[in-house]
Amino acid sequence: MNDLPASLETVRARFAEAAAAASNEETLEELRVAYLGRSGEVTAIRRGIGRLPPPQRPGAGKAINDAVAAMEDVLAQNRDRLAARSAQEALAQRIDVTFPATRPALGSLHPVRRIIDDACAYFERHGFAIVLGPELEPDYYNFDALNIPAEHPAREGFDSFWIRDDLLLRPHTSPMQIRTMQRHHPPVAIVAPGKCYRRDAVDARHLFQFHQIEGLLVAEGVHFGHLKGMLDGLCRALFGESQRVRFRPSFFPFTEPSAEVDTTCPKCRGEAPACSMCGGSGWIELGGAGMVHPNVLREVGYDPNAVSGWAFGFGAERLALTRYEVDDIRRFVDGDVDFLEQLGALA
Ligand SMILES: [Zn+2]
Repeated sequence: MNDLPASLETVRARFAEAAAAASNEETLEELRVAYLGRSGEVTAIRRGIGRLPPPQRPGAGKAINDAVAAMEDVLAQNRDRLAARSAQEALAQRIDVTFPATRPALGSLHPVRRIIDDACAYFERHGFAIVLGPELEPDYYNFDALNIPAEHPAREGFDSFWIRDDLLLRPHTSPMQIRTMQRHHPPVAIVAPGKCYRRDAVDARHLFQFHQIEGLLVAEGVHFGHLKGMLDGLCRALFGESQRVRFRPSFFPFTEPSAEVDTTCPKCRGEAPACSMCGGSGWIELGGAGMVHPNVLREVGYDPNAVSGWAFGFGAERLALTRYEVDDIRRFVDGDVDFLEQLGALA
């Protein structure tokens, strides 16, 4: 066995290579048994010591012991390697860094709130004041002062939610026009946003509770052209520069002349006969407008020969439908968070 060191080295190298390739503890243990176990290769070599001439035996014994120690080191290193790897795998399973993080649920302004704010901001830029008032109003402010006497048929669609004989949930924010004019001499320039209530059956275009934004300008020399200019500017500010406005003759007791105001359908711009938003007309109705009726000016103590004014009332939900191209007004109130988040992302 003169070649003992060489064969030990060969065995050790083979062992080291196999151990480095082992992918689990079981393989390592099999290697240990195959090389260092009772019937293992190194054990067989050790048994051969007895056949060596006595002077060579101590040297051979030491060489074998060194080889065994080195191989045990290799085993320990590879056990550590496998343990570290499985710990890493366990960690990777628990913490998947590619998994989307849990974001805190952040709220955003409701689309109707946002369009009211934007409309108010437009009028504030033009010197108008924002006025807010009670949702419960006496019939005087809701009707009589607005040139709608008790027997007037125009009350029909308005007088819905009576709390007492003379007190009801307001069907429009017009009471704030009266209250402001009663408190201030002209000129008066206000916008009045807020909740309103009517007995409309709920459908894709109507809610029994909705928001209005009304505007009022009274001063010397105010005419219909001022109204058209302001509403044209409002629609362009809210919906885009190419937006158009259309006035159709109409009737309201509190304005004369009166008009219905439409704006370009933002979805089809009048080019889709089957458009779900405008029904193919190319126009979306926003609400009513007109020159303040002389009887209303007289009622608040103004002289209709000295001052004139215009007023308008738009449904805020209608404005939001138009801006966000939503085809059903009920979507704004049915509490669908996904829907609101989508619109929030458009802000
Ligand atoms: Zn359309």
